[in-house]
Amino acid sequence: MSINCLLNNCCASRSCSRVANPDCSVVANAANLSGNFSSDPFSNNPRTAYAAETYLADAHLADPRPKDECGVCGIFGHPYAAKINYFGLYSLQHRGQESAGIVASDGELMRQHKGMGLVPEVFSEEDLGRLVGSLAMGHVRYSTTGNSNIVNAQPFVATHQGATLAVAHNGNLVNIRTLRDELEKQGSIFQSTMDSEVVVHLMAHHLDLDLDQAIIETFRRIRGAYSMLLMTKDQLVAVRDPGGFRPLCLGQFNNGAYIVASETCALDLVEAQYIRDVHPGEILIIDNRGLRSLTLGHKQPRSFCIFEHVYFARPDSDIFGINVYQSRKRMGEILARECPLDADLVMPFPDSGNYAAIGYSQASGIPLEMGVIRNHYVGRTFIQPTQSMRDFSVRIKLNPIRSFLENKRVIIMEDSIIRGTTARSRISSLRGIGVKKIHMVISCPPTRHPCFYGIDFPTVDELVAHQKTVEEIRRYLDLDTLYYLSLDGLVEAIGAPAENFCKACFNGIYPVPPDLSFHKNALGCGGFTLPGEGKTE
Ligand code: SF4
Repeated sequence: MSINCLLNNCCASRSCSRVANPDCSVVANAANLSGNFSSDPFSNNPRTAYAAETYLADAHLADPRPKDECGVCGIFGHPYAAKINYFGLYSLQHRGQESAGIVASDGELMRQHKGMGLVPEVFSEEDLGRLVGSLAMGHVRYSTTGNSNIVNAQPFVATHQGATLAVAHNGNLVNIRTLRDELEKQGSIFQSTMDSEVVVHLMAHHLDLDLDQAIIETFRRIRGAYSMLLMTKDQLVAVRDPGGFRPLCLGQFNNGAYIVASETCALDLVEAQYIRDVHPGEILIIDNRGLRSLTLGHKQPRSFCIFEHVYFARPDSDIFGINVYQSRKRMGEILARECPLDADLVMPFPDSGNYAAIGYSQASGIPLEMGVIRNHYVGRTFIQPTQSMRDFSVRIKLNPIRSFLENKRVIIMEDSIIRGTTARSRISSLRGIGVKKIHMVISCPPTRHPCFYGIDFPTVDELVAHQKTVEEIRRYLDLDTLYYLSLDGLVEAIGAPAENFCKACFNGIYPVPPDLSFHKNALGCGGFTLPGEGKTE
């Protein structure tokens, strides 16, 4: 069934009322707060009411650390904009699983619906039916403990002097503390701990300018990683930071409507044609006059996040113009060259390392097997917000096939080791069923430094590769061999110039100076020197 069939079926069964419904926040006429944007009201939907209570009980304002890793999707000029957006967010679910939201506009009223949970849990058919209009913008969000609440769910919508602005952001702003302090001294009252909220407050200071200039002036102040969508009642704006940390692409439908999304896989699902990436440092404004492009004033070297190719992006997406499936497969091929091993089989722990395992197998001639079976109804452990939840999900998630693996020499392919606790538990289960030799190869270098640009790596205290040498990690994990792909090998696998990428979590060289006070423990690392790396036997 095509996306159009789906949409037509949906539309036939929904009530397309243009009247504001109490389950859906109508924000165009929201009351103003003197001198400040008013925050969007909570949805009245009972499925999200619990989260609003959590927010009220939370002392979250004491912990303003931004912890987003998100996906964004915007549609302009499509009669089913909100429903298309829903499917777009569905494709981007891997980028954030704790909350989802869509705001839509019919040119006069902006309506929104958001809540905690996965996209299909947050939106019912009825919810989507209320989000009328040909303009819509959506967001899926991941956060960690303390910030996982409805008030931080996006899009963030605010009204000031009759003008309503919605913001959806993927990335982290590194000068958030300075900006927030400054704005609070000027009277701004923040409603969330989201770094993205500073954008609406900064925009409020430039209401005397036209939208183009207000955006340029606002983003002139902002540093860090942002692939951001802004929406008014009749315009969709896409902004990408000058380094281009996070991906953002532009596509078009047969009817001329536009889509902007974090990854190309969202375009594939809704049958939109990929046009191009939003350029680093570009402001793309889409309205009834068409599409126009502006440039942010400040420049910086390319800083594409190399970890998008290692772990985060979907393999069917083209990220920074390169297909992720193929780059991950090449990582495995290069690992086979850098670390040739003698074994009976190579296998991934599903689903991490799948494609690199294919590459290793094909390059080495060692058979690829799926020796561990995954329970598909448990989420990715990296995404879970607490350690106890992660430990529990490791135990229930994967089951090794005892009769097949017993007495075998296996190579396990992993895409990364962050804390090491998950890998340790998995390896222990293999030892327990009598696997004879366990080699582990990792399709990236040791992750030794935290990320300040939108992927919520733990602090250095929690990063096993910051605390231990490769040999110490091998012993900690109880492996016969541990080998990490070299940084040169990783760059070769992706096939773009090394200088295009941020590699800070591997080499500690941060392209935009981070605010280390957000990660106080990072200051205690004694500089960013690298402990020994390479193959150990
Ligand atoms: S530090 Fe690592 S995860 Fe963060 S943007 Fe840079 S490469 Fe990506």
